[in-house]
Amino acid sequence: MDDPRRATPRTDHVLADPRLRAAADRLGVRLVKEAVVATLERCRAGEVAPAAVADVALQSLPATAAGMRRVLNATGVVVHTNLGRAPLSPAAVEALTVAAGATDVELDLATGQRGRRGRSAMAALAAAVPDAGGVHVVNNGAAALALATCALAAGRNLVIARGEMVEIGDGFRIPELLQSVGATLREVGTTNRVRLADYAAAVDEETAFVLKVHPSNFQVTGFTSGVAVAELATLPVPVVVDIGSGLLAPHPRLPDEPSAAAALRAGADLVTASGDKLLGGPQCGLLLGTAGLVESLRRHPLARAMRVDKLTLAALEATLTGPTPPVAAALVASAEGLLARATRLAALLADVLPAEAVPSVAAVGGGGAPGVELPSAAVAVPAALAAPLRTGAVPVVGRVESGRLLLDLIAVPAQDEEALVAAVRAAALSLQPDFPTSAPAGAGRD
Ligand SMILES: *Cc1c(COP(=O)(O)O)cnc(C)c1O
Repeated sequence: MDDPRRATPRTDHVLADPRLRAAADRLGVRLVKEAVVATLERCRAGEVAPAAVADVALQSLPATAAGMRRVLNATGVVVHTNLGRAPLSPAAVEALTVAAGATDVELDLATGQRGRRGRSAMAALAAAVPDAGGVHVVNNGAAALALATCALAAGRNLVIARGEMVEIGDGFRIPELLQSVGATLREVGTTNRVRLADYAAAVDEETAFVLKVHPSNFQVTGFTSGVAVAELATLPVPVVVDIGSGLLAPHPRLPDEPSAAAALRAGADLVTASGDKLLGGPQCGLLLGTAGLVESLRRHPLARAMRVDKLTLAALEATLTGPTPPVAAALVASAEGLLARATRLAALLADVLPAEAVPSVAAVGGGGAPGVELPSAAVAVPAALAAPLRTGAVPVVGRVESGRLLLDLIAVPAQDEEALVAAVRAAALSLQPDFPTSAPAGAGRD
């Protein structure tokens, strides 16, 4: 009788495998040791053959030394907050890889003197929003709003419509954020309606600014009215507009989504936005507005606590100047093109499971444009695949609809199709023989 416990190899013996030693050089000894120890436990339990321990341990190693894993976003939600919002363009990834080492982020190489931090990224942002006299970048959209409010309205009041008191996610609320840096809120209007006269009546000598917040994750329809930026600009106080999604200019596919250019042209003194929503860049917060105002925010003590790192600056600049980022590409993807891709992928899967190309309706996501439907296409597979696909070697997250799992292609780049097919095939095989395909299943019935 084989006792698996007797045959189990020793830890140091397994760790001496040259492939595992190379992995330890790349990932660190701790991760490799953990994988080996876990595999030896499975060997003792009789689940892994003693001779296969090194192979299995190697396969179980993470792709990188960080716990965060690459995921294929087949949800049909283009900007998915739980999946890290905007995926970066290859140009942005390349730029941040270079910036990861020693870099001239704050050094003028021509003179050898200190240079303005991230000057080329700031120049790219200024060029992308010519209506802004000044630009600055902080860690995220919430930081941009907090900095503006702290610098301008601490100990004073700001006027905001009740219908724009937004909860952004994970329990964080814009009104509480504004109060947390010392501003008093003067709420005007009702949930569904507000008029210019409401704002005008609320403004007094202690009012620092009027704030307009874009409800980027919900819609109020029916008997509603809001006040446009151009009207707010007639009030005797500055107008700050939180557009949220970071569209720099109006987008034909998103007619109701505010843009920085439109808000500034309508008379906004300052616009705040996120960098990792519709702009398609790294997490950051944009401050765009009149030169003097932006400069005073940039020099505020709190600005130092919200400073972005060099990786963000590099990725943001490459997003602005480089080829079309994935989010922008998804917004204009043709439904026919996506359906053709889905048809090809479904054919590649047909021998292992029932797979069908279907038209689908995708969404922009919490990142903006609520209610906008993006025509898309998906590969429909059995819903039982959802869990094994999420936990596979390359995790795939789809969405279950009408009892089927839809793998929507709008946010899956073409270069990831091979990985998607491989993941679905592996998940299907792990569930065999639950999915008899037409050939064996039909034979011999009647
Ligand atoms: C997303 C959003 C924010 C928060 O931006 P973060 O970059 O997530 O900090 C603030 N306001 C609006 C209107 C938003 O849509």
